Amino acid sequence: NIKQADRLKALPTQFFSSMVAKVNQSIAAGHDVINLGQGNPDLPTPPHIVESLRTEVLDPVTHKYPPFAGMIELKIAIADWYKREFNVDLDPATEVAILFGGKTGLVELPVCLCNPGDAVLVPDPGYPDYWSGVALAQAEMVMMPLLRENAFLPDYSQIPQDKLDKAKIMFLNYPNNPTSATAPLSFYEDTIEFARKHNIVVASDFAYGAIGFDGEKPVSFLQAEGAKEVGVEFYTLSKTYNMAGWRVGFALGNKDVIAAINLIQDHYYVSLPAFIQRAAITALNAPQDCVHDLAATYQRRRDVFVGGLRDAGWDVLMPKGSFFTWVPVPSGFTSWQFSDTLLEKAHVMVAPGVGFGESGEGYVRVGLLTSEQRLQEAVDRMVKCTL
Ligand code: PLP
Repeated sequence: NIKQADRLKALPTQFFSSMVAKVNQSIAAGHDVINLGQGNPDLPTPPHIVESLRTEVLDPVTHKYPPFAGMIELKIAIADWYKREFNVDLDPATEVAILFGGKTGLVELPVCLCNPGDAVLVPDPGYPDYWSGVALAQAEMVMMPLLRENAFLPDYSQIPQDKLDKAKIMFLNYPNNPTSATAPLSFYEDTIEFARKHNIVVASDFAYGAIGFDGEKPVSFLQAEGAKEVGVEFYTLSKTYNMAGWRVGFALGNKDVIAAINLIQDHYYVSLPAFIQRAAITALNAPQDCVHDLAATYQRRRDVFVGGLRDAGWDVLMPKGSFFTWVPVPSGFTSWQFSDTLLEKAHVMVAPGVGFGESGEGYVRVGLLTSEQRLQEAVDRMVKCTL
């Protein structure tokens, strides 16, 4: 009967587990469930990256510990990639940290920068892992509602002064999970001014930075003038190259924040396996056709799914990026009730918006993570099902 530490009790419950249980129950009952509830990329890692891993794993050097703070060759590759993709200058030695997926950095950041009682500004709805770091740091979470009438951007004027006085970090995430909104450069310029004024570190989560639609490339926070003075960006290979299982992520930007992240990583890990770091270099340095093809695939899926729902009269905004769609719930339903109803009557699983925060109530999140054919089938079932 060994008891867990109090700090673990503060961790949020993983609402995805109850969703997965419901899906499994429905499958066990013999239903052909179309699961659009989770965020797992469905396409394979491009073969040239897998091939590079095969080669690298045979190099005898992999029996040694890799450098504690990650391989400088990989840091150079990510800095060069950011320069080519976004025209952002980064010093590989001091402005890049290598992470076990973006997630570790996002969770570590509040632990790195906050003392108990400090506040962290978090988008609502938002990716629930931000909450975990805030809980582990024993910091206070202050929600910033993302509303449709504000294009799902936070309204800084609504944050109470007493919370601003305590705020150390602000998380932002565009293209956004779950709303699929994107942010213009002017938003980041305003954010930098606001962050300077209130002495807040900006943490831009750019996990979906490679997935933009209609010819519009998502904007990196680091493209805005002065970004590195006030913050960092988190990037990940999980979505860009369908490498979620490889766990490769980066923190990029402000030197002091990068040093803090490297310090904590030093104590927890000895960097990613060398063969994975080397295959990640291949991913970044090789021609990027696979990335452009992937974004085009998600755009076609969006057109099938969102186009189909809109043609049937559903009030859904066309996503501008990410692989999610944020669908308003019909009146009379909570987001859980609507998602349960769709599972029961249409055998389509979607994620209840409230799982991403209180302001997510009234919506469900749909992941465009299956073929166009299956998405068309999902639309047909959703449109036909009588609620
Ligand atoms: N940020 C957002 C918004 C995400 O949706 C995810 C994954 O789903 C991540 C970060 C973490 O990605 P990873 O830890 O695989 O790099």
